[in-house]
Amino acid sequence: MLDTPSNRPELPPEIARRRTFAIISHPDAGKTTLTEKFLLYGGAIQMAGQVRAKGEARRTRSDFMKMEQDRGISVSASAMSFDYNGFRFNLVDTPGHSDFSEDTYRTLTAVDAAVMVIDGAKGVESQTQKLFEVCRLRDLPILTFCNKMDRESRDVFDIIDEIQENLAIDVTPASWPIGVGRDFLGCYDLARDRLELMDRADRNKVAQTIEIKGLDDPLLEQHIPADLAAKLREDVEMARELLPPLDAKAMAEGTLTPIWFGSAINSFGVKELMDGIAQFGPEPQPQRADPRQIMPEETKVSGFVFKVQANMDPKHRDRVAFLRMASGHFKRGMKLTHVRSKKPMAISNPVLFLAADRELAEEAWAGDIIGIPNHGQLRIGDTLTEGEALRVTGIPSFAPELLQSCRAGDPLKAKHLDKALMQFAEEGAAKVFKPVIGSGFIVGVVGALQFEVLASRIELEYSLPVRFEPSQFTSARWVHGPKEAVEKFANANKGHMAEDNDGDPVYMTRLQWDIDRIARDYPDVTLSATKEMM
Ligand code: GDP
Repeated sequence: MLDTPSNRPELPPEIARRRTFAIISHPDAGKTTLTEKFLLYGGAIQMAGQVRAKGEARRTRSDFMKMEQDRGISVSASAMSFDYNGFRFNLVDTPGHSDFSEDTYRTLTAVDAAVMVIDGAKGVESQTQKLFEVCRLRDLPILTFCNKMDRESRDVFDIIDEIQENLAIDVTPASWPIGVGRDFLGCYDLARDRLELMDRADRNKVAQTIEIKGLDDPLLEQHIPADLAAKLREDVEMARELLPPLDAKAMAEGTLTPIWFGSAINSFGVKELMDGIAQFGPEPQPQRADPRQIMPEETKVSGFVFKVQANMDPKHRDRVAFLRMASGHFKRGMKLTHVRSKKPMAISNPVLFLAADRELAEEAWAGDIIGIPNHGQLRIGDTLTEGEALRVTGIPSFAPELLQSCRAGDPLKAKHLDKALMQFAEEGAAKVFKPVIGSGFIVGVVGALQFEVLASRIELEYSLPVRFEPSQFTSARWVHGPKEAVEKFANANKGHMAEDNDGDPVYMTRLQWDIDRIARDYPDVTLSATKEMM
């Protein structure tokens, strides 16, 4: 068992034991395998291998999208909760494909830490680097798992150097691997002076733990060959000299990452990583909000929507809003205030994403993720409270990098298209702009693949074939400023103006020169590439 779960004794134990995190990695590094093992140790599944199987089943049931199956991309982020050693882990899945960076960014606003998985043979890959930078924007604590140590991997010092240099973060080894590739035997646990030996015969078997009294203990040679013992002593001595020690504060501030070595597929090193998450997690953190920050231990309940997903059940037009609880102890049936509309909402059928299955959430604490079925009232960035007018901040909406115009294949169905596009805009799946002059819509996305996803969903969910075509514009910027100044600007630039789905003014162009010119000619107006969602 570990020490006290919280650095903040004022937290109620139920909150202090919660760990809400995401896994970031490059495709193929082992995220799915690691998730499976988490769930296995969390008692959520009987046999590893079921996440994948369940994933398929879930896909046909809820994610259902043909695109997803065809391409093997998980477009929809989901949350999974499970218990481990007295802790409640909430694992929020980050969509893996680089085209979905905005979604990923928002997902990372809902977690308190990230586990970075890297492939021991490949080191820091492009997608890892991108996701890492997003974590850095929020100073998220990072725990690193170097996977696939059962295969030929790179030199350990090399891997650590690469992380330190490419990601500009200090690295401290929490464990040290013994042997490489076929000779990989296991790890030395630097914090607890233990040998963890991998069982190659049984992939689901937890490693054998041998307590030793430090590296000079002659017991070491009884378990590993003398040459590997000598190398281990030498490596660890050098690592302790060259690398920073594990400092909980630096870790919490996101400037230092502990690294564990292991092999997810062999169930090796996973428990140690989970112990690390429990120990350094951290517990649910204060939430930035306007006009004041929200502390998790506040008795009043509050939370914010970081994701909206439509059609989890394809038979219904319902959406599920994913709410990260920011404070308090939520109970099913509670009436909360929807701050944006100032309207009360009875939360009568919230869903808790227990890994075994979706089930009704009777209660939830700060740190938890619950799903709230609704008909579209809840949008990304919305805050729910027990009445206070608080608004969680820091959930941005990015200007799309790609714009296309969208038309219904059948002109008589233009109205349906309107509805479909508004739904996707609210979900955050695309930006939808209605030009002030002319008909039709301009749809903006962050990655090209999203046009295909949208076309496929509109056809599937609304039986409406659509065409995406190149637009005359390539950039969109939100227009901010005093009301009169914005109106004057809009009137003078009608051919470039549109409204987003909230009715906010947007300026569209294909020339950076235009944007620069406006900065000169309209000093009262600012064009911005992000809009804070509310
Ligand atoms: P993801 O794309 O990051 O979710 O990666 P997966 O978990 O699907 O793993 C990618 C591939 O690597 C699969 O074929 C896994 O079986 C394999 N894999 C995962 N972990 C390990 C490991 O520790 N050792 C080896 N040799 N292969 C692994």
